[in-house]
Amino acid sequence: MILDKIEKLLEEVKGLTASNAEEIEAMRLKYLSKKGEINALMADFRNVPAEQKKEVGIKINELKQTALERINSLREQFETAEAQDDDLDLTRTAYPIELGTRHPLTIVKNEIINIFSRMGFTLADGPEVEDDLHVFTKMNFAADHPARDMQDTFFVESNPDDVTKNILLRSHTSSVQARVMETTQPPIRIICPGRVYRNEAITARAHCFFHQIEGLYIDKNVSFTDLKQVLLTFARELFGPDTKIRLRPSYFPFTEPSAEMDISCHICGGKGCGFCKHTGWVEILGCGMVDPNVLELCGIDSKVYSGYAFGLGVERITNLKYQVSDLRMFSENDVRFLREFESAN
Ligand SMILES: [Zn+2]
Repeated sequence: MILDKIEKLLEEVKGLTASNAEEIEAMRLKYLSKKGEINALMADFRNVPAEQKKEVGIKINELKQTALERINSLREQFETAEAQDDDLDLTRTAYPIELGTRHPLTIVKNEIINIFSRMGFTLADGPEVEDDLHVFTKMNFAADHPARDMQDTFFVESNPDDVTKNILLRSHTSSVQARVMETTQPPIRIICPGRVYRNEAITARAHCFFHQIEGLYIDKNVSFTDLKQVLLTFARELFGPDTKIRLRPSYFPFTEPSAEMDISCHICGGKGCGFCKHTGWVEILGCGMVDPNVLELCGIDSKVYSGYAFGLGVERITNLKYQVSDLRMFSENDVRFLREFESAN
């Protein structure tokens, strides 16, 4: 009789569940308190016949132990769940995520690409380790041309017997123009952004690598006027609608005629200041009409087609826009410097 009661309670205890602290306390009172079910069994135990006392005693102990363990484990589970609830505060502000910033050269490069893209130029790319053929020969630098010395070049492989077989780090992105011209017939309208290398001592004003963007347009009847208009539009988009440009005669092996372009100083508005050395003008790029020799060397009929090309330094433009006085800042990865461009992103 008492054994049946114990078995029934044991089953009950094993199946206990609770959803809050009050329910657990109610269970404790029901089974384990002085007036609880198990103590009541202890009272009945006195009436158990002597020969059953051992068996019943063991069963009561088992029941008590099971009830204790079950209630304690429910309490633990509940407390853990409660603690986790405390951690989950949906109203709390999120941990701040540190956002990176684009490099100033990338910001300016993207801006320049955007301007020319809107004028119909598409992007072209080429290798940084180049052969002499594409860097110099097809760009109209004769084998003994002094211009080859103008650009101190990093050579990867040097062939004194045949300079056209030299392998080098490209010293300008014109090599991309050569590669596009030899594989594409006009109309060609491209810009080639990329890193270039020159064997120069690293100072505040010179570095052994920098970034260029060159542009090339080849079609029938392309004139110097077209070049001037495209560059004026570019300068005004980049430096503001009041920007003026002027072109000064210059020399490059791959263009004829060639020019250097200045813009009116955007700091003093052309009146003259320390930044423009009191001239009111700052130099921003080189340009010219593609030399017919270059077209022929790249397989384009110079009697049918003409074109213009221009090239600018991204560091130079970035300096003009943000007055970065030391070129080395661009490659030192100093986050204090880079963070200054957060708002420009
Ligand atoms: Zn000025």
